[in-house]
Amino acid sequence: MNLVDVNTMFPTDEKCREMLVRLRWPEGVRCPRCKMDAIELETEKTLYYCKQCDYQFTVTAGTIFNDSHLPLTKWFLATLLLCEAKKGMSACQIQRTLGLGSYKTAWYLCHRIRHAMIESQRPMLDGKVEMDETFIGGKNWWQGKNSLHKGKETVIGIRQRGGELRFFHAKDARSGTLGKYIRENISEDVDILYTDDWNAYKGAAKHIRKDGRHKTIRHKLRIYVKGDTYTNTVESAFSLLKRGIMGSWHRVSAKHLQAYCTEMAFRFNRRDNSDLFMDTLRHMITAPVLTFQKLTA
Ligand SMILES: [Zn+2]
Repeated sequence: MNLVDVNTMFPTDEKCREMLVRLRWPEGVRCPRCKMDAIELETEKTLYYCKQCDYQFTVTAGTIFNDSHLPLTKWFLATLLLCEAKKGMSACQIQRTLGLGSYKTAWYLCHRIRHAMIESQRPMLDGKVEMDETFIGGKNWWQGKNSLHKGKETVIGIRQRGGELRFFHAKDARSGTLGKYIRENISEDVDILYTDDWNAYKGAAKHIRKDGRHKTIRHKLRIYVKGDTYTNTVESAFSLLKRGIMGSWHRVSAKHLQAYCTEMAFRFNRRDNSDLFMDTLRHMITAPVLTFQKLTA
């Protein structure tokens, strides 16, 4: 899907709405309140009605599109731009490209699309898993963990080889914190967990470590690959994240760092997916609402 395809297939809000209906309710329109079948009303704005709970709604009711004054055609174009830009795209550029009235509108739009990229109910990672941490922010932050960590934000990356990548904006890289992300994301039956020789992993991965399933690569000795022991795939994802932050987003506040991490991982995990645009739209029409108040709280 490219810009021309999106323009051709979705030239009007009506066409956009038809697609959202198909993505939101593949098995027929359901009432968002009581989940019963609903019927379409004969009006211009494509209203639906549920007679079980006496509720009128549109396809965007209770979704991130809710309460937006932007035409759906612009939403669709912004979604394509965000999901196809490998290193991300700034709200400023979205504003100019789509001719949006204000930076604030573009900023809120981008954040809502990002919010829809949050994955719920993810399975535990299995097989061969790499885990690493990096530090973002402060002076010379792009030099990574060799420079001082003071004033920097910690990002943890976990990636199953040949599988999913996850990024987390963590409060630090201490043992307890690493252990929490290991427990929440990595299966206890993981074949091997690869990390560097950062001391905190000893305690954090204790349960995996005891029978030799935790392998470390000795970065302190400047060894980066030893047989199949390396953390290079998660590190290459980190460098993409950093290039994105430097090149497109310029300044990312600590408060919104997780949102950018989520966006990068979402795109990275779908880099070979030819259906990326539709997949993103499906997330958007089924994700929970993100209000401006919540975003700026
Ligand atoms: Zn109902």
